Amino acid sequence: MNTKEVLSKLTDGNKRFVEAKLEHPNQSLQRKEELTAGQSPFAVIISCSDSRVAPEVIFDQGLGDLFVIRNAGNVVSDEVTGSAEYAVAHLKTPLVVILGHSECGAVKASMQGADDSEAIKTIVSRIKPALDLESTENSIKNNIKLQGERLKTAGSIIPELLKQGKIEIIGGYYCLTSGQVNFFEF
Ligand SMILES: [Zn+2]
Repeated sequence: MNTKEVLSKLTDGNKRFVEAKLEHPNQSLQRKEELTAGQSPFAVIISCSDSRVAPEVIFDQGLGDLFVIRNAGNVVSDEVTGSAEYAVAHLKTPLVVILGHSECGAVKASMQGADDSEAIKTIVSRIKPALDLESTENSIKNNIKLQGERLKTAGSIIPELLKQGKIEIIGGYYCLTSGQVNFFEF
């Protein structure tokens, strides 16, 4: 599957979700059994942990379809990079989506300078360069781009695959109200 086909699958699935026409593909016992032989997910989704932004649900996909990496604020850390490297290099997954969303609590907390613990400070420090203190929405969109740019230059595997045109990294913005994901390049 090339990146264009992958994007169509995600767009079609999200349309089904928005229109309440879910098909719940690939969630049968047969699919579960087929996958014991291996996996070849068609997209890597780096999304926020927010309980309202579950990738398999909002893209109407099932088992073996999406390689999902989640944390508060969809930030790119070494662990995230390593997980994405595994998917693109070993599972040959062609498309990586950095998925942010409206009303993101992690971005809002970063705007307020949250410092509850060392671990939370680490997340805030990763989001901080993206902040526009006058606009939460701008901060969220900047954060998607910032994390994507980080991933594009992280380590050697991803930059090399990008150079060879074997993978693409794009952004996605999920609107909690409409349920729609808008994809964009950066
Ligand atoms: Zn969030």
